[in-house]
Amino acid sequence: MRTTLAWHADGPATPLRRAPIQRRDLRSDDVAVRVDFCGVCHSDLHAIHAHGGAGQPPLVPGHEFTGTVTEVGPTVTAYAVGDPVAVGNIVDSCGICAMCLAGQENFCHDFPTLTYDGTDRHGGSRTLGGYAREYVLRDRFVHALPQGLDPAAAAPLLCAGITVWEPLRALGVGPSTRVAVAGLGGLGHLAVKLAVALGADTTVISRTPDKAAGAEKLGAHRLLVSTDEEAMAAARDSFDVVLDTISAPHDLAPYLRTVAMDGTLCQLGHLGTVDVAMTDLLIGRKRLTSAGSGGLPATAELLAFAAKHGIVAEVEVLPSSRVDEALERLGRGDVSYRFVLDLSDLDD
Ligand SMILES: [Zn+2]
Ligand SMILES: [Zn+2]
Repeated sequence: MRTTLAWHADGPATPLRRAPIQRRDLRSDDVAVRVDFCGVCHSDLHAIHAHGGAGQPPLVPGHEFTGTVTEVGPTVTAYAVGDPVAVGNIVDSCGICAMCLAGQENFCHDFPTLTYDGTDRHGGSRTLGGYAREYVLRDRFVHALPQGLDPAAAAPLLCAGITVWEPLRALGVGPSTRVAVAGLGGLGHLAVKLAVALGADTTVISRTPDKAAGAEKLGAHRLLVSTDEEAMAAARDSFDVVLDTISAPHDLAPYLRTVAMDGTLCQLGHLGTVDVAMTDLLIGRKRLTSAGSGGLPATAELLAFAAKHGIVAEVEVLPSSRVDEALERLGRGDVSYRFVLDLSDLDD
């Protein structure tokens, strides 16, 4: 085993604690990555809040990171020491089920191995995430970080980015598609940038008009204020695709009303139970769907697209010693799109 420093959650409320963890020795197809930058995702906050404290397995969050290859196993040919790479929220899958064969490892029938809070398929150990200085994973689940993408700002592409990219692609968004993005946080702001780059006519739906300048800066064509009943009525049946990235539970009916005939509402932010009146789908033959994370081919496609169009997240980079501040501010929505931790201070 090899030792590295990490930020541990010891319970739902405690500050994270800096302490060593062990990573496995490299298997033949493993890659060791020095973690340089790791995004702070809403899932991290949920996982910490759900942690039972003493007696529970250790929790090290973090599942969207970029870094540098430091060592490779003997059968690894795609990567070499020094390569810039990126890792998302899946680090392994069964590889033989229909979903894996279709390149949708995120839907693996045997459940994908999550980057943290998962179980290693071979050793059975608990996976510990990217709030750490080193990570060891199977080569197939490592992505080359394209040149030209800032490694700190690119990190959120690996969770927030791919979560919005897969549905944009699956729903055929392109020039002439009328897209609306509800909620302008970590997911939403990347959805806007990607939809605009795909050529879509892109609207941001927000509860307050104060997001107008931010939406415009991201390239959105207009802002629709969801609390403005007149504006919402005027927007009835007007979007081919609505990506709903709002993380809090909310009524879908007002958003479904803005979906065009045969259009789709894709719910990405809140993954709990929702109440939907079937008539809200019936009238206009509307579709309700969801998505999350992404398969290996879609992730590679996203990184290539992002590099071509110069798309990265809007980030606030903090030294990892300020992880508690990042989590606390994320919890109350005080974040300019995405926090990213700089893990280099773990060397001190
Ligand atoms: Zn995430
Ligand atoms: Zn599978």
